Amino acid sequence: MFSSASPTLLQPIVHPLLTEKKVSLLLKRDDQIDTEISGNKWRKLKFNLIDARNKGFETILTFGGAYSNHIAATAAACKRFGFKSIGYIRGDELNKNSNPTLQKAARDGMELRFISRSDYKERDNLPWIKTLEQQDRAYVIPEGGSNEQALKGVSALVQEIEEPFDCLVCPVGTGGTLAGLVRGINHEQSIIGIASLKGSNYLEQLITDLLPDVDTNHWNINHDYHFGGYAKFDDHLIDFMMSFSKRTGIPLDPVYTGKMMYGIFDLIRNDFFAEGTRIIALHTGGIQGVFGFNEKNKRNLLAADL
Ligand SMILES: *Cc1c(COP(=O)(O)O)cnc(C)c1O
Repeated sequence: MFSSASPTLLQPIVHPLLTEKKVSLLLKRDDQIDTEISGNKWRKLKFNLIDARNKGFETILTFGGAYSNHIAATAAACKRFGFKSIGYIRGDELNKNSNPTLQKAARDGMELRFISRSDYKERDNLPWIKTLEQQDRAYVIPEGGSNEQALKGVSALVQEIEEPFDCLVCPVGTGGTLAGLVRGINHEQSIIGIASLKGSNYLEQLITDLLPDVDTNHWNINHDYHFGGYAKFDDHLIDFMMSFSKRTGIPLDPVYTGKMMYGIFDLIRNDFFAEGTRIIALHTGGIQGVFGFNEKNKRNLLAADL
């Protein structure tokens, strides 16, 4: 049922800047894993669902914001693999018809429970989580899906990469993906995470704590490309994304992968990477979020892109 699929495509990016600066860039297309359970969310869910099944759970319970890719992916995965799903959603003013992400999650059978922003702050409070676990006999997955099982799924993706590389780049939200990748690299390789949130300087410690067994310090988080914060953007970002997509045929999302790719090109332009550096960027997916983004911001990103 959870049989491992074939490795995702490693797609070379062709661009005059890469030629000029003599660096190579390949994009690992985890956005193509599945149209509904895309990218890093599937990598992070997979071993959680296996663990839940092995332990006899029939219900998965998790947390997320109104546009959360993790909520969308969890609802779709639970539907497909026969789990009941419950989502605690930040914001008690919302309802299940309030945006495309929540509508789809509800259609996929997720029971949405809306809680106030202040109650939502308790999402990592262990006694509360225990209560939820017991009340619904549920297997609880944290916000963003980032736990030990998630790291296992993400680090497996590094093993799929057969091309030699020097630097791996990924977007960063909760930090689970970055932590999983760090676990997967060897001592000659390094990782850069591009933060999507403003003021996320707590992440470095959090990731170090997630990796007590890892002795490499060949990773860091760049905080220069959040564009004002989570889901914030400006015309530079949107113009960049549109021209990237036109050139390559690859869609990006404005919350994570667009900012990552913008950051990579900006770093290359500023000679951050030595000549000859072989970069692999992880396309973590997130395209479902574009529909909510379009609606909220009266844009038509994907249609304009391709
Ligand atoms: C959730 C998400 C991320 C962030 O992953 P973390 O493990 O939370 O850091 C990056 N990209 C996309 C497309 C996502 O949906």
